[in-house]
Amino acid sequence: MPQRIPDCDVIIIGGGPAGLFCAIYAAAAGRKVVVFEKKASCGRKLLITGSGQCNLTHEGEISEFLSHYGNSGRFLRPALINFTNVGLVDFFRTRGVSFETDKNGKIFPSTKKAADVLSVLLRECEEKGVLIRCGEPVLSAKKEGEGFIVETANGQDSAKNLVVSTGGASYPQTGSSGDGYRIAEGLGQPVTGIAPALTPVYVRNYTFGDLSGISFEDARISIFRENKKTGEHSGDILLTHKGLSGPGILDFSRSIVPGDILKVSFITGMNQDEFRKDFAQKTDSGGTKLVKTVLSDYSLPERFVKRIIEISGIPSDLTCAHLPKKEKNLLIKNLTEYPFEVRELGGFDEAMVTRGGVALDGINPKTMESKIVPGLYFIGEVLDIDGDTGGYNLQAAFSTGFIAAKRV
Ligand SMILES: Cc1cc2nc3c(=O)[nH]c(=O)nc-3n(C[C@H](O)[C@H](O)[C@H](O)COP(=O)(O)OP(=O)(O)OC[C@H]3O[C@@H](n4cnc5c(N)ncnc54)[C@H](O)[C@@H]3O)c2cc1C
Repeated sequence: MPQRIPDCDVIIIGGGPAGLFCAIYAAAAGRKVVVFEKKASCGRKLLITGSGQCNLTHEGEISEFLSHYGNSGRFLRPALINFTNVGLVDFFRTRGVSFETDKNGKIFPSTKKAADVLSVLLRECEEKGVLIRCGEPVLSAKKEGEGFIVETANGQDSAKNLVVSTGGASYPQTGSSGDGYRIAEGLGQPVTGIAPALTPVYVRNYTFGDLSGISFEDARISIFRENKKTGEHSGDILLTHKGLSGPGILDFSRSIVPGDILKVSFITGMNQDEFRKDFAQKTDSGGTKLVKTVLSDYSLPERFVKRIIEISGIPSDLTCAHLPKKEKNLLIKNLTEYPFEVRELGGFDEAMVTRGGVALDGINPKTMESKIVPGLYFIGEVLDIDGDTGGYNLQAAFSTGFIAAKRV
């Protein structure tokens, strides 16, 4: 079959943030670049990031990012140092996008529109002469001689270098449905097992379904497996219809398995002993004050207070003077280590990212080039990288895209 795109230097499979960014910098360096995108338009996942507001990256020193990628932080070090959070914000700022940082350090475009970020990427691609072929999924890729041949439903194309930026397998309706793993394996590149990550937790015998939407800042979550504590973590949590979500749960989900007991403290800034003392003091001197009124001192939502005292066997009109010791102890326990038994974790259709992917020991961290197949590169989420919520995943996609572009 005839080659349709003559003299192509680089074929990029996948028009998400990693692929488009790599295309921009490779084209800027004089390469002739073609991006094949499976969907009718590029960046569909980018458009839904941060609920459409796009948490692009995080504030702080780039060295502080490394601990936010589980075991992959060390691998990402050269990419992140070469292209930092400051570099990323500057790239968009010099192209007309202004940014705001929220109280948790997350950086968003001031317009809170992911579409503004995507527009810049697409405009830059156009200006740099990147050819984008939307609605053309790559079906297979093979090495031939010094280069690669990729096959789509429309035929074959070849290039000296091949960049795979097909994303993970979560939210498959956005286009990233795991094709990259198959393409990698077809080229002899090892891939690890994959699983959903940054995903909500479903709870057995859940009693807070009707309180869905209530959130707690900086709640402490401890994991217990077979009665042994296996981890502890703090973060914001959200009650959902069937369990728990919010950054504190999503970030922790990589350490959770079905059957675990999550003990949650809804009291911020105090451990159980401190709360016990404080609450005892308040109730001992509370007299005719209602128990639920005392609880309002701890910034707990009213509907939640109503439910937690009910679960603890305390009538809503009970005064502090009449609070029996047994119920008081149960209430303290329920507020500081409420047990949620994990029934299951959300699947790929709900997970924000994919754990696992193209194995990192087969990739040069300084270039993203395969150590096995010269000229083959993997960038973004197709790699075995999953970051915490907070902008870490997009930063990894852009930084790995940038570092590969310098080499292709
Ligand atoms: C709901 C949600 C919210 C998120 N919010 C944030 C956030 O606020 N901040 C953050 O940092 N991260 C966020 N993420 C994660 C972030 O979106 C991803 O990590 C990031 O998009 C990965 O970029 P990528 O370019 O590697 O892959 P993707 O963005 O997945 O892009 C891959 C592209 O490859 C294309 N493709 C796949 N297979 C083929 C093929 N065979 N041929 C051609 N093209 C193909 C796909 O159609 C897709 O366009 C969120 C994820 C989700 C699901």
